[in-house]
Amino acid sequence: MEIIHATGTSPGIAIGPAYRQEQRELDIGEARIAEGAVEAELAALERALEGVREELQALIACTAARVGAKEAEIFQAQMMLLDDPEFIPPVREKIKQEKMSAAAAIDAVVRELGSLFACVEDEYIRARAADLKDVGVQIISQLQGGRQHKPRLEKPVIIFAHDLTPSETALFEPAMVLAFATAAGSRTSHTSIMARSLGIPAVVGAGAEMLEKVNAGDMVIVDGDEGLVILRPTPEVLDSYRRRQEMEQQRRERLAYYRTCPARTRDGHRIIVAGNMGCRGDLARLLEQGAEGIGLFRTEFLYMEQERLPSEEEQLAVYEEAVQKMKGQAVIIRTLDVGGDKEIPYLNLAPEQNPFLGYRAVRLYFERPEIYKPQLRALLRASRSGPLKIMFPMISSLEEARRGRAIVEEVKRELLEEGHRLAEPVEIGAMIEIPSAALIAEALAEEMDFFSIGTNDLVQYTLAVDRTNERVARLASHYHPAVLKLIHMTVKAAHARGIPVGVCGEAAADSLFIPFLVGVGIDELSVAAAAVLSTKEAVGKCARAEAAGLAEKLLQMKSAAEVKEALAAFWQGERE
Ligand code: PEP
Ligand code: MG
Repeated sequence: MEIIHATGTSPGIAIGPAYRQEQRELDIGEARIAEGAVEAELAALERALEGVREELQALIACTAARVGAKEAEIFQAQMMLLDDPEFIPPVREKIKQEKMSAAAAIDAVVRELGSLFACVEDEYIRARAADLKDVGVQIISQLQGGRQHKPRLEKPVIIFAHDLTPSETALFEPAMVLAFATAAGSRTSHTSIMARSLGIPAVVGAGAEMLEKVNAGDMVIVDGDEGLVILRPTPEVLDSYRRRQEMEQQRRERLAYYRTCPARTRDGHRIIVAGNMGCRGDLARLLEQGAEGIGLFRTEFLYMEQERLPSEEEQLAVYEEAVQKMKGQAVIIRTLDVGGDKEIPYLNLAPEQNPFLGYRAVRLYFERPEIYKPQLRALLRASRSGPLKIMFPMISSLEEARRGRAIVEEVKRELLEEGHRLAEPVEIGAMIEIPSAALIAEALAEEMDFFSIGTNDLVQYTLAVDRTNERVARLASHYHPAVLKLIHMTVKAAHARGIPVGVCGEAAADSLFIPFLVGVGIDELSVAAAAVLSTKEAVGKCARAEAAGLAEKLLQMKSAAEVKEALAAFWQGERE
């Protein structure tokens, strides 16, 4: 047995045979082309570039939504390489002047630029060389029909590799991958990001010796929680890991019970546990996990998938599908929340010093109707398919809420004049994610049909903690008494006007925190697909009457640590 300490970057335990993914040597095929084939080769290159662009765009949108905007930047950087004047123009020249095949020309330019980058001290620039190489491989794969190199896995395995590029990772059938273990890499390396987004355990940075010690087919354990790789474990170690795995499996089975049952507190109060949708694939995952509708449909991915605004018809199809598949359960669709951590390059918004405090979300709508109106038209038209609700992001004042609503009315009139039949009424709500909105929640509640509290931004703006800055991440706490008070104010104001209020930020999926949310009377929790079952379970374990008493006490507390401790004690009491 050999234990290797590394960094766990995607949680979970996997036990299985090792599969060694050797570093790929590219087969670029015929290097020269005939004189008359230049035009066809250039056209093939353009098609391949388009194909890579589409793949990267899908990857950016999905990674931003499911893992984080910061992580998605890695793929954004790869996308930018496609427009780098040092990269593709020399490739075209080599095809034209030297009659090289497109694949050979890509390979040559990647090698030339790579050797320049390799001598640079700066780690960031060296990372660009790795990206360049990967983009090169992606283009060549596209040129060759994208079919080759696909590893043939007959049974589920643990992948061992030096490091995996996104394109390599994407070639594996997720169902056949038990875990990833790489010699190189970090929390933000491609393998880690992909593993987290797929829910597959991963350990990275294990060092080159790991690859010398592991043989294909060896029995291995990957412990993504502790960051361990255990090669050829003894029967005792294997047994203890199997037991841990079984317990995890039992937990999953216990949770499966909640798939088909509506969320209720222990004393019978109904709380809707809906799902957050951030990319196309999320809809199927939410349905599979038993989400009770969609509490936050982040529409940004529709704008990030391509390099132009999505048309009204394109949007209509996506919204209608979501509403139809949710079969009568409400679907809350948020209008475009661009800016801050959500960048859409082709909108050509000028760079700002403080993008989180800048020209973003609703602030754009009134000056850029060409962005906002087609979306509203699609939403209103889709509302004929079922209970669709429209939600505005980043509301900070009453005027914004009113103006947003006025445009909806204007678009409604236009559609009716054009002869469209619309559903009446379509509910319109606001995200409460800026402290000013929580503080004027009473006034907003008079204008809006529902609220949804976005704790990610509410924490960021209340505590002045940039949500994308790792260095201050530990200061970002939804247990902070100020955040608790703002949530409480919002719920009170909403209920005083008889409108429902949900939470759709990450705090909604924090089981420890749920008794507070239940206690203040939240009507809906909206969480990522992976958290739907555990959220339903946590709700089911709370009695609202007890949680209300707890919430009252929590609202008197002075520090996040005190709040967290009291919540832990509450759960402890529930267990005993
Ligand atoms: C939030 O801010 O809490 C939220 C749900 O929206 P997003 O994370 O998309 O900004
Ligand atoms: Mg937000």
